[in-house]
Amino acid sequence: MPSATAARVRDLLAALLPGGVVGSFVAGEILPGTGAPLDITNPADGQVLLTYADAGAPVVDAAMAAARQGQRAWWAMTASARGRAMWEVARLVRAQAAALAELETLSAGKPIRDTVGEVARVAEMFEYYAGWCDKLHGEVIPVPSSHLNYTRPEPLGTVVQITPWNAPLFTAGWQIAPAICAGNAAVLKPSELTPLTSVALGALCHQAGLPRGLVSVLAGAGPSTGAAAVGHAETRLVVFVGSAATGANIAAQAARNIVPCILELGGKSANIVFEDADLDRALLGAQAAVFGGAGQSCVAGSRLLVQRGVRDRFLQRLAEASARIPVGAPSDPATQIGPINNRRQLDRITAMVGAAQAAGARLTTGGGCPAPLRATGGFYYAPTILDGVSPAAEIAREEVFGPVLAALPFDTEEEAIELANATPYGLAGAVWTRDVGRAHRVAAGVRAGTFWINGYKTISVMSPFGGFGRSGFGRSSGKEALLAYTQAKSVWVETAAEPVANFGYADR
Ligand code: NAD
Repeated sequence: MPSATAARVRDLLAALLPGGVVGSFVAGEILPGTGAPLDITNPADGQVLLTYADAGAPVVDAAMAAARQGQRAWWAMTASARGRAMWEVARLVRAQAAALAELETLSAGKPIRDTVGEVARVAEMFEYYAGWCDKLHGEVIPVPSSHLNYTRPEPLGTVVQITPWNAPLFTAGWQIAPAICAGNAAVLKPSELTPLTSVALGALCHQAGLPRGLVSVLAGAGPSTGAAAVGHAETRLVVFVGSAATGANIAAQAARNIVPCILELGGKSANIVFEDADLDRALLGAQAAVFGGAGQSCVAGSRLLVQRGVRDRFLQRLAEASARIPVGAPSDPATQIGPINNRRQLDRITAMVGAAQAAGARLTTGGGCPAPLRATGGFYYAPTILDGVSPAAEIAREEVFGPVLAALPFDTEEEAIELANATPYGLAGAVWTRDVGRAHRVAAGVRAGTFWINGYKTISVMSPFGGFGRSGFGRSSGKEALLAYTQAKSVWVETAAEPVANFGYADR
């Protein structure tokens, strides 16, 4: 007999998807998969919620053929009409917000207080890029000849987007909205563990009146369905969000076909607290930085650098406060930390914390499943702080992707910047200080794509987001994304009154 959660997931799917069938959303309908069975597991109790078939190459081929048609129809529309259609997607997302948030919570294990906010952000993404549709235009360049020279920002064609399990619907919106704003078709492959809300977003794009095939969502596994989409002859750009190892494989596969990539990979971001900071605010910020989303966030502030003069007291207060954060069932509105998304990730977190302790780090709080939640069978892990961490230790250099904080001391500003930059990653970071000059010096000195001063974790679709170093390259939000999702065409118009015998460079 299906559990109450499985039955509720079925009801939500029936409300959001045509026929309520689990499969890929391609060319305006749900296509069942053609490959091996895949399970979606409830992270709150470890039970299988439903099983579906991996999309496989035939479904990828269908999505790619539909994308080609859909992209042509989309680009033939006026820019204003494209903007209105994108605005309609946002309206439908808002109309279905409650169902989308609940489906995400039940199938991905994210606390309902987080998913409600994330669905609203998805609507904002479509609204923001709806506004860009009729403002994206080229330039007239004052070339030194008798020509009129102008540029046209043109779409690339079909964009393949591969996303992970930690914020499925949020990431789907983050990728699809700029891609279609720039005139492309989007073929999105969410994680095989959490495809449901992304498939539902594909269906809403269709309902909003976007051309058939413009947005497809493939429900399937990485090495089969994902690899087939990345390597497909129709693919013109690959956008990948996930681990560095998988990103490197995908970029190599795309490079073989001369297809560019945007890579949004992980991080090991430093959250730096100086003695002169507002320590009450920094205390809240340090918790939000690493424990939000149970630490399953690419920008997690998973390294806490505290200046030595306030270090002991700050870490003690942090351990006490962290032990009080409500960890529990994701559908409980009081829950701030839900389960880890999947058992493999839980095992990885457990192993990394164990290895850190074996290497000499001291556990000040957490370090396993909270006792009251052990009987649930869910993948829970308590907020965990490790002190006495060596900068060279694995826990100080590698992404855990869980609610685990590594604390390191520092004495001077120079040392703080050096420690912050002592990983191959460069995704995000923060500084807490009342010294304005220092705040800006540290912001300039830390190698990271996003940096906060006296705050943590705020991001917006309006602002560019992406990594330095091993955290990836390319930007997929803000107006910067529009550059990545377009290619400039340069058009030369001869305006000379007399014939010009010029077979080479336009020289004057
Ligand atoms: P992953 O990077 O392996 O998978 C991400 C996406 O890539 C999924 O959709 C997956 O199906 C797809 N994929 C995998 N192999 C593929 C291939 N050969 N071709 C095309 N697509 C492919 O991430 P994961 O296995 O879900 O998690 C592993 C680790 O990644 C985690 O422990 C965590 O550290 C990290 N991670 C980081 C982020 C982030 O945003 N930085 C997000 C999720 C996971």
